[in-house]
Amino acid sequence: MPTNKRARTSTRPSENLYPERLKYFEARQDALVKTIREFVEVESPSDNKPASDRIGALLAARFEAAGGRVAIHRAEEYADNIQVDFPGHDGSKPVLLLGHFDTVYPLGTLASMPCQLTDGRLHGPGVLDMKSGIALMLSAIQALKDWHKGLPRPVTVFLVSDEEVGSSSSRQITEALARKSAAVLVLEPAAGTRGAVKTARKGVGDYTLTIKGVAAHAGLDPGKGHSAILELARQIAVISKFNDLRHGISVNPGVIRGGTRTNVVAAEAVAEIDVRIKSAKQAAGLDRKMRALKSFDKRCKLSIEGGINRLPMERNAGVAALYKKAQEIARQIDWQLEEAAVGGGSDGNFTAGIGIPTLDGMGGVGEGAHALHEHIIISELPRRALLLAGMIENA
Ligand SMILES: [Zn+2]
Repeated sequence: MPTNKRARTSTRPSENLYPERLKYFEARQDALVKTIREFVEVESPSDNKPASDRIGALLAARFEAAGGRVAIHRAEEYADNIQVDFPGHDGSKPVLLLGHFDTVYPLGTLASMPCQLTDGRLHGPGVLDMKSGIALMLSAIQALKDWHKGLPRPVTVFLVSDEEVGSSSSRQITEALARKSAAVLVLEPAAGTRGAVKTARKGVGDYTLTIKGVAAHAGLDPGKGHSAILELARQIAVISKFNDLRHGISVNPGVIRGGTRTNVVAAEAVAEIDVRIKSAKQAAGLDRKMRALKSFDKRCKLSIEGGINRLPMERNAGVAALYKKAQEIARQIDWQLEEAAVGGGSDGNFTAGIGIPTLDGMGGVGEGAHALHEHIIISELPRRALLLAGMIENA
C-alpha cells in the first residue's frame, strides 16, 4: 500500500511514491473498468431528461457512497445537474473536478453499439466523452482517501447534464463553483492516443441565418418569386470568406434547409452555422460580420440569431502553471505528458474564461468521441487516475 507518513503530511510526495501509486491503480483497474461500463450502460442523451436523470441519480449515489455531500441543481429542460462536495484535511480552497454525463447518442444506441471489451479497448456510447472521466474522479478520490485517511484538501465535483448542447442549464453554476475554487480539472477525454492534456481550446459559437423570400409558381410566375434558396446560396459564399484558418477562425454552414416543392420558388431557407475562434478578441469582429450580412435580392429578408457560446480557453499563465505541475507528476513515472490545443470547446472554456486556472483533457484516452468506434484504451487508466490524484493534491 502506498500509504506512508510522508504522503499524509506533505502535498508533494517523495520521488519514489508515484511508482507505488501506479501499482495501486493497476491493482484496481478491473474495478474501474466495471464502474465505467456501469455508467456507459445507462444511456443519457442530453435531450432526454428522464433517461439522463437516471444516470444522475446513479452518480449521486456513487459519489455519496464515496463520502461526498450531494446537492442536486434542478433543471427544467435537461437532467438535473449534480454537485458533490468533499471535505478536506485543510481549509484551503477546493479543486473543482468538472465533467458531464450527457452524451450525443440517442436512446437505444446501446443496441447497435454495445459496451464491450475488445483488444484492451472498452467501446460504447460516451465511454470516452466522458463517462470514463467521471469514473476516474471516483477512483482518484477513493485513492486519496485511502492514502491520507481522508482527502488532503476539499474537492468539489460538478457533473453537468447539458454540456453537449451548450450547457445552458449548468453554465452559471459551473462558473460560480469555479470562482470558489483554486483550480479546475476537466475530465474531458485526452487529446489523441498519446494522452495529451488540453491547455487551449477554441471558442465556439453558432448562428442561424433565416431568409424569407417571396414564393411563386415556378412555372406560371417565375418572375414574381424571390428565391430564399438562391439568396441563401449567395450568402453562404459570403460567409465562407469569413474563414481565416491561419488565425484560427473557422466558419461552417453545416446544415441548410429550405423550400417546399420543386415547382415553387422557395419562400424560406435557413442555414445553421458553426463558428470557432482562437482568441477572445476575435469574437466581436466575427459577430459584427455575421450581423452585417446584407441581402443581394432586396425582396429577401435576412435575420440572424445566435452568437459565441464559449469563449476560447487560452493558454494563460494559470493554465501553463497547472500543466507544469501535471508534467512533474507524470515525470515521476517516466511519462512525458504532452499538451495540445484543440478546436472543440468544453465547459473548461467557461472556467478559464473567468480567469480560473483550468487544465482540460484529464480524462480517458481513446478515439472516436461522438462516433461509432468510440472507445478508451484500458491500459491508460491507471496513470490517468494517478495524474488526477496528484493534481488534486498539488493544484
Ligand atoms: Zn465532452
